[in-house]
Amino acid sequence: LTPTNFIDQCIERAKKTSGFNAFITLTEDLARQQSVVSEKRFKSNSKIHRLDGISVGIKDNFCTKGISTTCASNMLKNFVPTYNATIYSKLLDAGACVMGKTNLDEFAMGSGTVDSMYGPSKNPWCLDKNWRIAGGSSGGSAVAVSSGACVVAIGSDTGGSTRNPAALCGIVGFKPTYGVVSRYGLIPLVNSMDVPGILARKVEDIAATLNCIAGPDHLDSTTIQQTFSPVCIRSDFDLAKIRIGIPKEYHCKGMNEEVLETWQFVIDLLERECIISTVSLPHTSVSIAVYSILNQCEVASNMSRYDGLEYGHRADTDYSTEELYASTRCEGFNNVVRSRIFAGNYFLLRQNYEKFFLKALKLRRLISDDFRYVFNGVNRVDLLLTPTTLSDAPLYNDFVSKANRDQCALQDYCTQPANMAGIPAISIPIKLSKNKLPLSLQLMGPALSEELLLNVAKKIE
Ligand code: GLN
Repeated sequence: LTPTNFIDQCIERAKKTSGFNAFITLTEDLARQQSVVSEKRFKSNSKIHRLDGISVGIKDNFCTKGISTTCASNMLKNFVPTYNATIYSKLLDAGACVMGKTNLDEFAMGSGTVDSMYGPSKNPWCLDKNWRIAGGSSGGSAVAVSSGACVVAIGSDTGGSTRNPAALCGIVGFKPTYGVVSRYGLIPLVNSMDVPGILARKVEDIAATLNCIAGPDHLDSTTIQQTFSPVCIRSDFDLAKIRIGIPKEYHCKGMNEEVLETWQFVIDLLERECIISTVSLPHTSVSIAVYSILNQCEVASNMSRYDGLEYGHRADTDYSTEELYASTRCEGFNNVVRSRIFAGNYFLLRQNYEKFFLKALKLRRLISDDFRYVFNGVNRVDLLLTPTTLSDAPLYNDFVSKANRDQCALQDYCTQPANMAGIPAISIPIKLSKNKLPLSLQLMGPALSEELLLNVAKKIE
């Protein structure tokens, strides 16, 4: 199989499975052009690039020069960036054949990929009339990989958006340490928590991609300044003496019995080789509330750039500037985005700032300290093992019901604390539920422990 043949097959697959709604834009010509370049390198025996001939999908909240970047929002439906996200440039340099821009919840706000102006993405594991969600917000990326159109896809992860859809679609989803991969050109949700994430079928593919995209970037001052040492997956990696902590607070209310069984199943397997201990992260239960406040405050500030004047959608009104702003934002954003802007501005009012925003920041510190303590304290562990999601993929109709919408922040219960602390985490598919849907677990490690994390994940996979 040559790169051009392979990419032709991927394009065919993407078209055949278009009903899953993985892509907002297919960049067929770009993928073909890149595959021709890769093929030339293969044939001329010149140095092959690390991602030559690999089909890659990119979430539609990364800027791609000359290719529309919509954030699945009416606000940006005609936005064509004039510059590239660093991660996209690095992927192209590494030879990746970019297949297209993948679907997401509007501005990456959600955990289902049900709130996209291009319609929801569907979980390829269930083709019934009563279809199931792909998870989110990087659901399009997860579906693109899971359905075989892409080998690797890029997502973003602010509270679990890479790990959640990977878990529900039965693939691997990885969130690196904050600052390891540049955010330049990633349209922000919560700047202090956003990281680009990687989705793939195999841990090795995650490692290979990470090695191409990681490293300092002068265009993102929050990237870690030291050069990134490439991670290496070792076939002789030994699990003996690895200490794995099981945080008791992750047994949360509403967690499905089968998820708990899967968790116990892997604990029992690991116990034969590793040292397993129960640990405590006492502030876990407040993490969701703290996240909601910090998320909405940063959203309120980030979204203020969409005023209908500089770029993006502009409402057709000339009554007053105020009215132009209001109508533009009303027409441009969905209910989720608008309600977060509203709540964020409320939390940031002078009389509320201390009561909500500052308190949430203090609690965020305590949540991070919990992790620091389990990774560095007296009975320290190397990694933590938890479920990724509370259940297998929910039915679309249940997920969008009012009762569930009111509870939707709960979806991020297991994934979101890692973003608070900026630590790396990976979701690994384990087995199928009674519904024949994937169930996955999550490993988390201390900052910059990606090599250990990926090696242990490889053993579990
Ligand atoms: N579900 C979370 C939210 O809506 C996380 C989203 C994400 O990680 N991008 O904010």
